[in-house]
Amino acid sequence: MSLERIYRYVDEHADAFVQDLVRLVRQPSVSAKGEGIEDCAELVEEMMREVGLSAKILKGEKGHPVIYGEVKSKRTAKTLLFYNHYDVQPPEPLEEWKYEPFGGEIADGKVYGRGAVDNKGNLVSRLKAVQAYLETVGNVPVNIKFVVDGEEEIGSPNLEPIVKRCKQLFSADAAVWEFGGTDRRGRPHLYLGLKGVLSVELRAKCALKDVHSANAPLIPNAAWRLVWALNMLKDMNEKILIEDFYDKVQPPSDEEIECLRNIPFEEEELRKELGLNQFLKGLSGFEALKALLFQPTCTINGLLSGYTGKGSKTVLPKEAMAKLDFRLVPNQKPDEILEKLTRHLKAHGFSDIEIVRYGSTEPVKTPVSDPFVSLIAKTAEKVYGEKAVIYPLSAGSGPMHLFRNILGLPVVSAGCGHPESNTHAPNENLRIESFIKGVKFIAALINDFAGYSVA
Ligand SMILES: [Zn+2]
Repeated sequence: MSLERIYRYVDEHADAFVQDLVRLVRQPSVSAKGEGIEDCAELVEEMMREVGLSAKILKGEKGHPVIYGEVKSKRTAKTLLFYNHYDVQPPEPLEEWKYEPFGGEIADGKVYGRGAVDNKGNLVSRLKAVQAYLETVGNVPVNIKFVVDGEEEIGSPNLEPIVKRCKQLFSADAAVWEFGGTDRRGRPHLYLGLKGVLSVELRAKCALKDVHSANAPLIPNAAWRLVWALNMLKDMNEKILIEDFYDKVQPPSDEEIECLRNIPFEEEELRKELGLNQFLKGLSGFEALKALLFQPTCTINGLLSGYTGKGSKTVLPKEAMAKLDFRLVPNQKPDEILEKLTRHLKAHGFSDIEIVRYGSTEPVKTPVSDPFVSLIAKTAEKVYGEKAVIYPLSAGSGPMHLFRNILGLPVVSAGCGHPESNTHAPNENLRIESFIKGVKFIAALINDFAGYSVA
């Protein structure tokens, strides 16, 4: 069908769409602290109903609710599923925000606020695309389903049982993942997979209490124990030392290498933004990009021990803690990495180090050759007037594997963000122009998907 009517509706209702985004941004929903979660879940359900979807709140045994929405097409049995999330990262540090993090301020053509792009802007852009169909033609070209997670920003620890339980309800032919956008030159970027992640905390405990550091010749120091243990995990050439850590790493295929060569990696901009003269090991160009997307990592996220206040304090700490994450690539498994980590520390005399496991997700990807990839790339090119940039994998993580492995869907991530959206950082924002274009892109995708033959 002709998209002109749909696009016209979108343009005519752009202000109202932005107001709906503001409404959602103004509702805090910080999953890490449980702040505003229930209210936000209800608001999302309400917004789905306003658009014309049937919606319900799904609850697991524990964790934050998932909102499910759907609208059936009168034309076809084909189904497109959207995965999004309504939870957001904590807004801290608050003093670095120009506007209230949950104020939804509109300034310089942008909506400011935590969640403006990640992921409320993307969620609203999809809802509004569906609204445009229902309000103009009274139908959608394909069945539409929404699964809106409330724990994505904390690793979706409770989503798996819900996906398993709702396998039938969530069944579809393809899924559009939550994020994406254009680069500074307006090229749409699509992501065919995600790295996995495993978050852990390492704890060293020695004496029962902190003691005067004069006792250092006799009393074990928890901070040193932890530092020595950490030193066993990675060397100064960035090589991870855990035995068999790289065993299952699958190198990129020829077609994935081809994709990598076509990615315009804005490395200068990135280094400049971070005030760095060079990347680790002097990596640049293709090699840097390949490392970014296909290299597993071990990162210290934070360290805590002893006295860290003003001046000095001659104390010997009784405990020390480090938070770490491992970013994993196909076909590494979080469970296996945890086992290898445990074994490794033990083998090197660190069985006293306690390992606490936090969230994890598996690495996953949809093959470059999947017909859904070429469909979405074609639609993106049509809407944005630029060839789509295809990432065979993204450096980020999320519960995509549940949709790919349990539901068996091809999954591609695409959205309405921009490199200056400040995702997860202070002054997160969404350009209104990108948002509205994003609504049109999703509308066009829904239309093109109707003509897509399901294998
Ligand atoms: Zn996020």
